[in-house]
Amino acid sequence: MQLHISQPTPVTAPYKDIFREETTGEYLSAIQLASESVARFLGNNKKPFSGVTPADLKPFFSTVDLNTPLADYQSLLQEVETIYSDHAIAFHLPQYIAHLNCPVVIPAIAAEVLISAINSSLDTWDQSAGGTLIEQKLIEWTCREIGFGPDADGIFTSGGTQSNLMALLLARDHYAVHHLHHNIKKDGLPAEATRFRIFTSEISHFSIQKNASLLGLGEQAVVKVRSDQFRMDMHALEDAIRLELQKGNIPIAIVATAGNTDFGNIDSLETAGRLAAQYKLWFHVDAAYGCGLLLSNQYRHLLNGIELADSVTTDYHKSFFQPVSSSSFLVKNKATLGLLKYHADYLNPKEQEEDGLPNQVSKSLQTTRRFDALKLWFTMRLMGKQQLGEYFDTLINTTAAVATILEEDPDFELLNYSDISALVFRYNPESNFQTSACSMNQHIRKAMLEQGEALVAGTKVQGAYYLKFTILNPLTTTDHVLGVMDIIRQHGEAWLQTQPVVLENACD
Ligand SMILES: *Cc1c(COP(=O)(O)O)cnc(C)c1O
Repeated sequence: MQLHISQPTPVTAPYKDIFREETTGEYLSAIQLASESVARFLGNNKKPFSGVTPADLKPFFSTVDLNTPLADYQSLLQEVETIYSDHAIAFHLPQYIAHLNCPVVIPAIAAEVLISAINSSLDTWDQSAGGTLIEQKLIEWTCREIGFGPDADGIFTSGGTQSNLMALLLARDHYAVHHLHHNIKKDGLPAEATRFRIFTSEISHFSIQKNASLLGLGEQAVVKVRSDQFRMDMHALEDAIRLELQKGNIPIAIVATAGNTDFGNIDSLETAGRLAAQYKLWFHVDAAYGCGLLLSNQYRHLLNGIELADSVTTDYHKSFFQPVSSSSFLVKNKATLGLLKYHADYLNPKEQEEDGLPNQVSKSLQTTRRFDALKLWFTMRLMGKQQLGEYFDTLINTTAAVATILEEDPDFELLNYSDISALVFRYNPESNFQTSACSMNQHIRKAMLEQGEALVAGTKVQGAYYLKFTILNPLTTTDHVLGVMDIIRQHGEAWLQTQPVVLENACD
């Protein structure tokens, strides 16, 4: 008889990667190593960007075989640092003043530890329990800060784009139900839908068009109203509504912006709200950016009129110092959210509603949904409104001071004053009045991205290219911005040196 001698198997704990009581040690050490990697990210970053290009990074990716796992966290983190964190854009540095990315507060980051590990899903009570109540309490709080009454409600969403989609969906279906006795959810679009019109300013967020198109109304449904001083011109708005009525079209909604993406300016919410009431239109306020003013001590009045809205978009990840994603969609009258409601037998059957169990899925476009609300909960409970409001006031005040600096500097042309914290301008030294400011400013932005010492954004206004500062970091001071302006000047001067005497003036 032959004995079968088996090979010794390596000693590994079974299922050591599955998060549970027996793997508490593994869990704590993984989190420790990951947070040390984050600390290295902070320690290594002396400028917002390394200037890395896709071509620099691609070779690393070609050597990675996803079917061959690495030995341990040390090797993993080393790899991730090489291909990602060493070159990630550092939003927390005061020289990052490009897009609408705020620095994030530590309580919110700590909350992320619980969010992923406990992994509640906020669609139903039976997957979240207290998580649902935490979300509801924050929604109630936001509604109250807006000035909505007791019938208000809302939901956390993935971002402003989704919140704006919900707003237009409700506006569309609300009109159809109340004016055409037509249920779009059941019966699809009525013939009249090709004539539905949504009014918003020419400089509102592109998600308005995108969402109108997703909702089957087509981009043609969006009437872009002229802006004046980078705010929707309210006379032009009323003229536009009248003109569409004359043409036999069907106005259904006004979308006002509280803080437009490029200029941080706020449409007159009181006037827009009054016009919406007068013409019986859904009134949506896109406060993705401007919602930070809800926290403000000095500037809350800039949102006056927001309480007239039927629905509001807020992005806590734009202006409450929250990590992505953290946003909400709020309505004045919770009954309108019924337009979104579906019953799934496995999630929120009708019987359960009668038991009084709160199932947030009825109000959401998403099903499985992250417990993002916990980040804001940590933030509000540890820092509070007052502290966050001071941060927000600081960046508004810094921006006003920077506007003055830009305006007084003959080398720069400032295009707007901002209600919040976005300034559009270009480098255009007087002595070179004839130069192509567009090509020069495009060059400046590109050179700044390559060098990474400071990051600014770029945008086009009436076909011409401009640079943009978005100041969302309360640690950014006017001295930092003066430093950034020097960098801009250096790149601009270098570009001028390379130019032939006769310069084109094209902006495309
Ligand atoms: C950023 C922004 C949005 C879109 O929000 P996301 O969270 O990026 O989806 C909508 N409206 C305005 C005014 C914005 O600035």
